Amino acid sequence: MAKPNPLPRSGPGGEACIFCRIVRGEIPAQMVGHNPDLAAFRDTNPQAPTHILVIPKKHVASLDDAMDSGLLGQLLAFAAAIARQEKISKSGYRTVINTGKDGGQSVGHLHIHVLGGRAMAWPPG
Ligand code: 5GP
Ligand code: ZN
Repeated sequence: MAKPNPLPRSGPGGEACIFCRIVRGEIPAQMVGHNPDLAAFRDTNPQAPTHILVIPKKHVASLDDAMDSGLLGQLLAFAAAIARQEKISKSGYRTVINTGKDGGQSVGHLHIHVLGGRAMAWPPG
């Protein structure tokens, strides 16, 4: 009999997921903060002078898969704390969550982009 799949219902998760691999220390990343549930590290392809990704350590494929409102609140509060730590909160910054194909999500592990250090344009492309 096939083993039950321990991974979430969408997104690669576990072994294959890039951000899970960063959390496990299998792929290097420039960590800027973490706590038992969350991690923040610099984006390898920064779109602004400061570009940080804030993630839950537990695999959640996307905002559409995020059922834990407590975790979502923690993620947002952590993103704000990281922005203060990076000294972009006074000048301002943008937080972005891309979800699914049309949202432009390329990594299937929930993440908040924290972008700052320059003025952002609106509307987004
Ligand atoms: P998305 O397009 O899913 O909203 O954002 C994914 C982000 O992850 C992109 O900005 C991309 O540059 C970043 N990224 C992809 N692979 C890696 C990686 O291995 N390490 C880090 N630090 N960032 C990554
Ligand atoms: Zn993952």
